[in-house]
Amino acid sequence: MILVTGCAGFIGSNFVHYWLTHCDEPVVNLDKLTYAGNLDNLQSLANDPRHTFVRGDIADRLLVKNILKQYQPRAVVNFAAETHVDRSIAGPDAFIETNVLGTFNLLEAVREYWSTKPEKESFRFVQISTDEVYGSLSPLDPPFTERHPYAPNSPYSASKASADHLVRAWHHTYGLPTLSTHCSNNYGRFQFPEKLIPLVINRALSEQLIPIYGDGQQVRDWLHVSDSCEAIYRVLNKGRIGETYNIGGHCEKTNLEIVGMICTVLDQVHPRNDGKSYKTQITHVEDRPGHDRRYAIDTTKIAKELGWRPTMTFESGIRQTVEWYLNH
Ligand code: NAD
Repeated sequence: MILVTGCAGFIGSNFVHYWLTHCDEPVVNLDKLTYAGNLDNLQSLANDPRHTFVRGDIADRLLVKNILKQYQPRAVVNFAAETHVDRSIAGPDAFIETNVLGTFNLLEAVREYWSTKPEKESFRFVQISTDEVYGSLSPLDPPFTERHPYAPNSPYSASKASADHLVRAWHHTYGLPTLSTHCSNNYGRFQFPEKLIPLVINRALSEQLIPIYGDGQQVRDWLHVSDSCEAIYRVLNKGRIGETYNIGGHCEKTNLEIVGMICTVLDQVHPRNDGKSYKTQITHVEDRPGHDRRYAIDTTKIAKELGWRPTMTFESGIRQTVEWYLNH
């Protein structure tokens, strides 16, 4: 049994599906169902006895303690978070409450549970973090390794960085067997429509303008969510305790390129009635304050230690993703 938090959201729900197609170990799924949580993402598991859903907050220490006591998981994977950078700029409170205080309360509940277990070494706590904690790169800088200094620039990345420091300290001070992952921009099915790829598809199909922040030259490394889930699966099962692992897609692209590629796929699979390209809907809008220019990930460590490499090419991944959103 494992306890996974935040699994009505994008990556978490993909992870639960991935997990249950790769092993039979049951999952308890704790999710607060904020605006970003969607039980439809888990609909096909509604009658699966291996999946138990509990609605609740990771900051609710008593609830987490009771779940741990009842289900006796051998591992906890923490996906639960507030995740949208724009929302963190407009209102950072929820980011501190969930990403910092929530992680703190979760760690404390887990520490108490773990400290009573006879087989302490085999327990795992996996924190799902982000490449954004490392800050922004210049065009010629080498990609982020796990040793890159932290320099979070947004309230979102600062709250995730805080959580990472707590996880590190709970390992260092109390010996809790933790692992952390830093992944780049995931894409694929089940993503909330405020994020770039589903937002562009929605805007394109509803004949609205497709907004691009500033000059659109911000570079992100794109990783298909199935590759991300495989990497987290390996980290949980084979990663070295106390270590962090960077996970990236070897796929650096500007936002403008991404939007252009989505429009090209849509032009092919769902052309506009007037025969024009969806690219005609692209419009540049005022840039996000403090917008990081470039993220890139060095995956040498996870490749060497855990044999993980991304397998999905962006060309086929984005086509599959666009087709999935068209059908849903
Ligand atoms: P998401 O916003 O799609 O989903 C977050 C989920 O967490 C939702 O189901 C929400 O209801 C739940 N949640 C929020 N606050 C909670 C709380 N206090 N208690 C319990 N549940 C709560 O997020 P995502 O994109 O799937 O990201 C998952 C994790 O991966 C996050 O920790 C995020 O920082 C990290 N991450 C995401 C990306 C990405 O590209 N999406 C990249 C790097 C890291």
